[in-house]
Amino acid sequence: MPLDPTLFGEIDPPQRLLMGPGPVNAHPRVLRAMSADLLGQFDPEMTGYMNQVMALYRPIFGTANRWTMLIDGTARAAIEASLVSLVAPGDRVLVVNFGRFGLLLTEILSRIGAVIETVDAPWGETVPMEAIAAAIERTAPKLVACVHGDTSTTMAQPLDGLGDLCRAAGALSYVDATATIGGMEIAADRWGVDIVTGGLQKCLGGPSGSAPITISDAAAEHIFARRHTEAGIRMAGLEDGAGPRIGSNYFDLAMIMDYWSEKRLNHHTEATSMLYAARECARIVLGEGLDARYARHAAAGRAMTAGLRAMGLTVFGADATRMTNVTGVHIPHGVDGEAIRRMMREAFEIEIGTAFGPLAGQIWRIGAMGYNAMRHKVLLTLGALEACLLREGFALPPGKAVAAAMEAWG
Ligand SMILES: *Cc1c(COP(=O)(O)O)cnc(C)c1O
Repeated sequence: MPLDPTLFGEIDPPQRLLMGPGPVNAHPRVLRAMSADLLGQFDPEMTGYMNQVMALYRPIFGTANRWTMLIDGTARAAIEASLVSLVAPGDRVLVVNFGRFGLLLTEILSRIGAVIETVDAPWGETVPMEAIAAAIERTAPKLVACVHGDTSTTMAQPLDGLGDLCRAAGALSYVDATATIGGMEIAADRWGVDIVTGGLQKCLGGPSGSAPITISDAAAEHIFARRHTEAGIRMAGLEDGAGPRIGSNYFDLAMIMDYWSEKRLNHHTEATSMLYAARECARIVLGEGLDARYARHAAAGRAMTAGLRAMGLTVFGADATRMTNVTGVHIPHGVDGEAIRRMMREAFEIEIGTAFGPLAGQIWRIGAMGYNAMRHKVLLTLGALEACLLREGFALPPGKAVAAAMEAWG
């Protein structure tokens, strides 16, 4: 029997308000941009859009790097492209580890065959710069890899000074800024770090599936010297480089940079609709202004925190280093965290996040990112959470949370 396609209706998802740690609802302008007509990948209009994307993402990354572009895939694609292109088997890499996404870096590095060293902080804290300095001294790594905002713990690692430490030790540096780009300041050049990567589905307010990346000249030089194969070198029409080859074709940053260069050497087919989305995300970010946007995310985080505390709940993690755009909160004793999440979804169409690893069942993670870092969405979420907690029999002072959040928004 052939499958009757009318069994499945047209896509018509429920209108959920996504207030978890990402993904979030995309800005309607981004969804509209994605429905624009397609172009051939070497069409001058298309390569013109690619150049515009490079220009648009430089200020968002806080960089003048020539190599500022997109990796096709979710944020993890850019993480993997960076690590597989920078690191050869046997290279020593220091991972600054303070949550689940630090563990992801070690997982990818172990597949590459790197010698992995870590400098760790307990979940809910960040790693002091002096501890990173001491670990660099102790391990003499070729690369230092770090997460900026780790949504698993809601902590943001301070990064000022990291680049100087790395350069003084002859190491390159990599930062995963997926959860913070477009919501907290990314200062690739001031931090002095070599590669920073992101994703659209958090504070940039787009769908997942495109990963912005910026690459310093020093990192690009290192990567070009490790071109993948003889054939790759011939295709690029270049001299043979030294050293071991990049162990991936799809994630070979040398080939992807050639594709984004004036040479336009064919690699993959650029994901056209995702490029439209990434371009519109960046136009929205820069149209709002970076400072205004960071201030809006900070206000949302302040309001969320004040509202949760006014309900008598305990916010998770060190206040000084908490991310502004996602807030962890302890599930109160005797409350079924999953029952509350279900009630939030079924009664209010609001999604909040659960947690992983050591924090599973301990905290909820409530985000306010990108298009959802808005006052009314924060207030709706707090009002809904209060109603659900009261219904579950948790004793809290009614009516305080929303008022405290309105006050804290400023
Ligand atoms: C959300 C997140 C990712 C997600 O990667 P995807 O491949 O887009 O799912 C990676 N790193 C960090 C720090 C994140 O918060």
